[in-house]
Amino acid sequence: MKEKITKKTDTLSPYLIISKKRDGEELTNDEINFFINEYTLDNIPDYQMSSLLMAIFLNGMSTSETNALTKSMLNSGSILNFDERSVVDKHSTGGVGDKTSFILAPIAAACGIKVPMISGRGLGHTGGTTDKIESIKNFNTSLTLDQFQDYLINNGIVLMGQTNEIAPADKKIYALRDVTATVESISLITASIMSKKLAEGPKGLVLDIKVGRGAFMKDLPKAQSLATSLRNTGLEFKKNMMTTISDMSQPTGFAIGHSLEIIECIETLKGNGPKDLIEISLHLAGGMIFIGGKSNSLEEGIEKAREAVNSGKALDKFKELIENQGGDSEVINNYNLLPVAKVKTLIKSPISGYVQEVIPDLLGLECVKLGGGRKQKTDLIDHGVGFVLNIKIGQQVEEGSTLITVFSNKNQIDEVDKFKKLFLENIVKISKDKINTPKIIIETQIDWGTGNV
Ligand code: URA
Repeated sequence: MKEKITKKTDTLSPYLIISKKRDGEELTNDEINFFINEYTLDNIPDYQMSSLLMAIFLNGMSTSETNALTKSMLNSGSILNFDERSVVDKHSTGGVGDKTSFILAPIAAACGIKVPMISGRGLGHTGGTTDKIESIKNFNTSLTLDQFQDYLINNGIVLMGQTNEIAPADKKIYALRDVTATVESISLITASIMSKKLAEGPKGLVLDIKVGRGAFMKDLPKAQSLATSLRNTGLEFKKNMMTTISDMSQPTGFAIGHSLEIIECIETLKGNGPKDLIEISLHLAGGMIFIGGKSNSLEEGIEKAREAVNSGKALDKFKELIENQGGDSEVINNYNLLPVAKVKTLIKSPISGYVQEVIPDLLGLECVKLGGGRKQKTDLIDHGVGFVLNIKIGQQVEEGSTLITVFSNKNQIDEVDKFKKLFLENIVKISKDKINTPKIIIETQIDWGTGNV
């Protein structure tokens, strides 16, 4: 752990720092550092941190304040450092059915990239990568940092859950933001994501910024501001960066729910994935391959990614990841080894027409209600429940065709009945008007940190 007490502590006061930010003034590095250090050490109470967070939420932060906040949060814990340009991770700002990590990480690793994934658990309506991989029996996500480094160096791919050693300040602050309505702030999101990702010690980062109803950023200008903010901070820390804005106006792929999503990922690695999931996964993997120095362009990176799927090398890497971390890799051949819920209910279309909407956040919340997410921090997750959609926006459907299959348990008949009503009334909208399927990739930018091009 780093030394957390700043030298100028005596002259700094939480009250004055809060009032300065409340009045729209810029905070100094020392003020930010002091506040974060003292809060992490429990010397500043939650109510003062909540006030500062709300002041930041309302008045924003400059780039230099955001960078100072990121640095303080990063320095609150251990920081790994890998010297190779090929160490590249990807982070998504979160969405529904967003499962690309399990596809792009083995693809990138099969192409010579080293992928150090420290990932989160479910949050609100969005599922978490760590929870999803735990659908695979005995897969160990609780590694020590030494194990994490060994696996990365020896196998080129590793996936663990968050630990108290990495950015503990973010852990504390995030929990507070979650209950004080201060999550959707560009500066706070930037510092939260970047402090955790920088601590993994990568040379490059691919960031997938989701936009739409299922994302934190609901419209394109906000997503663009977040992309700019994340990029600025990455460049300040000399990282090679690819920032992609991608669509979250509907779920990605067809599956929502832990085991169901793992099956969809394995199918995608076998070459049978849904079009949008393949496109975004290859794009992000291609970016990792390019900024990690294993191709001469993004396009060549995407081509290499496609070959890794076609040759079966990416699937082999996924198998290796499961085996390295103690999981049962037979799941790749036998989906019965995953705890998929046994009761299947098909919901059919009452009319013919074109799909106008499939509202992702409501579907995510319904998955939580079935037990596929936590209502409280201590809740256990049911990895088997969820949904498999048959539709995408723009698709033509016939009356009586299946729109979605619900996977639930025997004692959930009432919940499924309620879901059916909600789904047909509020989640899916079908009308006679033709509508285009939204593009999954909206825009992408690549920037080189001065460190290691
Ligand atoms: N993901 C994070 O890790 N932090 C945020 O603030 C938002 C999304």
